[in-house]
Amino acid sequence: MLLATDLDGTFLAGDPDSRLKLYQLVVSHPEIKLVFVTGRGLELVLPLLADPTLPEPDYIICDVGGTLVDGHTQQAVQPIQGEIDRLWPGERMVEEAIADFAGLQRQEVPQERRCSYFCEEEAVTDELRAAVEALGCDLVYSANRFLDILPRGVNKGGTLRKLAEQLGEDEAHVLVAGDSLNDLALFQQGYTGVCVGNSEPGLIQATENSTRVLHARAPGCGGILEAFEHFGYLGNKGIAAETQEVLEPGQSDLVIVYHRLPYEEVIEDGRMVRRRPTSPNGIIPTLLSFFADGKPGSWVAWSVHEGKASQFETHTEVDAKQYPHLVAARVPLTKKEVDIFYKRFSKEAFWPTLHTFWERANFREDHWEVFLQVNKAFAERTAAEAAEGATIWIHDYNLWMVPAFLREMRPDVTIAFFHHTYFPSADVFNVLPWRKQIIGSLMQCDVIGFHIPRQAENFVDVARGVMPLEVLSRSSCAPRFLTYGCAVGLDEMTSEIKVYDRRIRLVAHPVGLDLNRVKQALDDPAIQAKMAQLRYEFSNTKLILSVERLDYTKGILEKLEAYERLLAEHDELQGKISLFMVCVPAAREMTVYRKLQSQIEQAVGRINGRFAKVGWTPIQFFFRAFPFEELVAYYAIADMMFITPLRDGLNLVAKEYIAAQGLTNGSGVLVLSEFTGAAAELRGAVLANPYDQHEMVNACYFALSMSKTEARNRIREAFDIVSHYDIQQWGEDFFAAVEDMQGKLLEFEESEGDSNPKVA
Ligand code: UDP
Repeated sequence: MLLATDLDGTFLAGDPDSRLKLYQLVVSHPEIKLVFVTGRGLELVLPLLADPTLPEPDYIICDVGGTLVDGHTQQAVQPIQGEIDRLWPGERMVEEAIADFAGLQRQEVPQERRCSYFCEEEAVTDELRAAVEALGCDLVYSANRFLDILPRGVNKGGTLRKLAEQLGEDEAHVLVAGDSLNDLALFQQGYTGVCVGNSEPGLIQATENSTRVLHARAPGCGGILEAFEHFGYLGNKGIAAETQEVLEPGQSDLVIVYHRLPYEEVIEDGRMVRRRPTSPNGIIPTLLSFFADGKPGSWVAWSVHEGKASQFETHTEVDAKQYPHLVAARVPLTKKEVDIFYKRFSKEAFWPTLHTFWERANFREDHWEVFLQVNKAFAERTAAEAAEGATIWIHDYNLWMVPAFLREMRPDVTIAFFHHTYFPSADVFNVLPWRKQIIGSLMQCDVIGFHIPRQAENFVDVARGVMPLEVLSRSSCAPRFLTYGCAVGLDEMTSEIKVYDRRIRLVAHPVGLDLNRVKQALDDPAIQAKMAQLRYEFSNTKLILSVERLDYTKGILEKLEAYERLLAEHDELQGKISLFMVCVPAAREMTVYRKLQSQIEQAVGRINGRFAKVGWTPIQFFFRAFPFEELVAYYAIADMMFITPLRDGLNLVAKEYIAAQGLTNGSGVLVLSEFTGAAAELRGAVLANPYDQHEMVNACYFALSMSKTEARNRIREAFDIVSHYDIQQWGEDFFAAVEDMQGKLLEFEESEGDSNPKVA
């Protein structure tokens, strides 16, 4: 059958349950061909295609019948579109023909093969009608306000009829649905039809005597469902039998959805054992701490499983003593799925694009399919865990598509998302082939968090290109963040947006540190001994420290080149400074990093070869990971920390250096790329542009010559930030935003009556 439905007031309206029910019904019945029939221009229908809660239409009739496209490809349906085109004299001709008529104001909305105006009734004179007639066009005036000039004979109903005929659809199998006089032409074709509840009186009157038209009680989708029952479209069983099995809510009030489990699974002597995570940044313990109050909760993460599904243990304990009501809810993935979803696709397609290195990205549709499957499995697990009205907190871009699946399964839950990586502006993000789906999914969240305002604003920049978006509130970034002082600074950020009837809160909360971990390392006698040994070793040279993973985003080559130029331009520094470089190798499968590794090794060799003297090597290079505690020893004694990413969501190493220096009353200097998230937050650092070698050299020289008093003051300023906005504060601030938004949404729902802000 063909379901041809108007959008505004009809298919997009109705109570949330009816909408979900109808949308699921359409999706689960591939024999129902869905046709959107709307007065909107195509440009204004496209955003709806990004909404994961709406079924994808097979055809779109827009511009009041002037445009007909295939819903999947958005290409014109020929020859029908060609026939309409031949009837249209063109926008210029129409504009010229009516230029001298007063009182017409062109509507500033997308429109093709028609010209739409606002005007008072008096303006619709016989002369105007005659001028339109002379153009070979129709004039349609409605609601005492809207005037459309259309190709002759073109309207919603006529284009639908041509489409139905071309598809060979039996007349008896077409159901039209509408709510206003603009839809009348649909009902004049002799098809069965439904005027949904709250239809315009004019439409009801005009269709009153038609036995083929149902005047439904329920508005919007509810009315269409009534029509399915009334006309018996789904056979004797009706729609009741079609309604999906209702998912029983789970038990958890809080569900954390993170790609990793809160413990590590390692195979020892052929048996799987669990260990405390070695996660370096302390996020896992912080997230766990939100379950300390005994709240029933779940932690959804993947676990590699190759065998039969029946042999998989979905729920495992996390820590029965500390978190008695927390369970790990595992999503079984094969090794191959993890390889594609995590190690390959996320790293090869998303990571480079997010960090503005889109030329390096490799997009594969088959990998995207795996990504979708994995995200769907995460969403299903989450939906099964969540109690009625639960809070779901999803983490990072690996799980971008979870909200899309989850919102459909569980419209009742609050979805919060934290983006841990950089988020670029539209010019870069739009390179992603799946940008619309990703943004459509994120729009199902209630709160989205980023490290810094620039990333939140970039998200708004991207979203605005996908769908109409209203900014409900903006907030000042100062004094918490730099405004004009660094490349990723910003003076104001968007803090709440509205997309259709959904409201979404945007927040900027940079991830903080677990200071206790740094303190414990500093108090450790072994680390103190290490510090004493390092102080002795570097007693005659200033130690410049560099710590990062091997990654092109980290600007390692740029750092080496700047260091080389520093030694060349300031030869008095030769023998007096030493660059101690820790570069953590990537997993062996990540072949993309091999070339970079050899370039770095060559650069180190070249610089050491060029400047080394007996008893002094300019660069000590370590291509391996250091235990965190040992790093802390280096942080505490380094005279300068040199961090130069070309782009970085945050950079925790910068904060760890400040923490170690601050806790030891140190006088080191942090030279930090102005393209890191941390730069927007850490006052006291010496900022530099890693693309500008001249500035990098000057920043290093400035840092190395700084007086101890100034350096200490700068550390104190930065330490104040790092110690106040620690990891616990980060989690609490984020949760406070979620709770605040939950309160607001409740108020909003009550004031809006039956319209639910959660389903767009
Ligand atoms: N790290 C470590 N050993 C090393 C190098 C780094 O434990 O040899 C840790 C470091 O302490 C920091 C994390 O790895 O907590 C790196 O985080 P960052 O945000 O700086 O960079 P990312 O790798 O997440 O891009």
